[in-house]
Amino acid sequence: MCETRNRFVGLEPKKRVEALEDIDRRDFILFCTTIAATLGLEASWVPKIAEAVERAARKPSVIWMHFAECTGDSEAFIRSSYPSTEELILDILSIDYHETLMAASGEAAEEALRLAMEENDGKYIAVCEGAIPMATPPGPNGKPGDYLRVGGKTGIELAREVCGRAAAVMCVGNCASFGGVQAQYPNPTGAVSISKATGVPTLNISGCPHNVVNSVATIINFLLLGSLPKADKLGRPLFAYGKRIHDTCPRRAHFDAGQFVEEFGDEGAKDQWCLYKVGCKGPQTYHNCSSVEYNDGTSWPIKGGHGCIGCSEPQFWDNMSPFYERLPNIKLPGVEATADKVGLTLVGAAATGAAAHATYTLLNRKKFDETLKDDEGEE
Ligand code: SF4
Repeated sequence: MCETRNRFVGLEPKKRVEALEDIDRRDFILFCTTIAATLGLEASWVPKIAEAVERAARKPSVIWMHFAECTGDSEAFIRSSYPSTEELILDILSIDYHETLMAASGEAAEEALRLAMEENDGKYIAVCEGAIPMATPPGPNGKPGDYLRVGGKTGIELAREVCGRAAAVMCVGNCASFGGVQAQYPNPTGAVSISKATGVPTLNISGCPHNVVNSVATIINFLLLGSLPKADKLGRPLFAYGKRIHDTCPRRAHFDAGQFVEEFGDEGAKDQWCLYKVGCKGPQTYHNCSSVEYNDGTSWPIKGGHGCIGCSEPQFWDNMSPFYERLPNIKLPGVEATADKVGLTLVGAAATGAAAHATYTLLNRKKFDETLKDDEGEE
């Protein structure tokens, strides 16, 4: 993959186009098909996506800012392999500033940011990774936001300057979108999301890290329609965050049937039963993990046997933990009691034979369906 990536890095735009022509057409169409499916578009959109990517008259300028974070979202972004997400990104975008990827450092980097903003004023996409510390450190010389300074400026100053002059602001990851781990109790640095720190509305590709398929699909949407996709009340694009994990989970049939993993490594775990009892937060989490998966569609937590920890939701470190205990405030009234009852019932059913098992399962399935209907009504 690195060899492939290196074909593009440092090449002049014209040479990049030539290199892009070398990319296997079939992979490219597969990539466009994946993006169309992610955006919820019909197959007839695939040629239009291909055309938008190939014929983008002017590559949208991107200024990628790092604030208080672990760089996991940049890692996710640059480690996507072909069907050439990263190669296409290098080619369809003009990434004019990215502290982790660019060669410049020190004053040259500051100059690169100044130039990128000046040359693309009001037209660039600001991609933000990380939260903004707002608090004042203790001591006689502390100033608000001093917990994060880059090139002499606080994170607050940089975020307001860069986001305030952007055509659109896209937050990648939970930290930029909602504050992330550093914004959790007791939050000594006073970390907040980009939109709270700047007052600028943001499109939030949340997750820890975000899924690169979703950020790429958002950019393609921008290229295709000239606008950002529709978002939910938390600023997350509906194509990626419109459904609960619980509603698209491949283990859902086991939840409905009352078949739960009681502890990791048990028979239920081997049979890939529902992970609710070992802490899965899928019933309260909105994300398209089950359809796009991570690492180029290789897997995702629930497929790997680990419950969802709710990483695309605001304050998930506080609200969703302990991660290995059942949801404390689950919106499904009675599920906890019912789940226990079902568990006991299944033990009895196993002892008395398959017919009894089926009867109990059906009875409890009805109960779960009613409960879920109540839950849907609440939303
Ligand atoms: S509780 Fe978790 S594992 Fe079980 S069906 Fe819902 S999302 Fe899937």
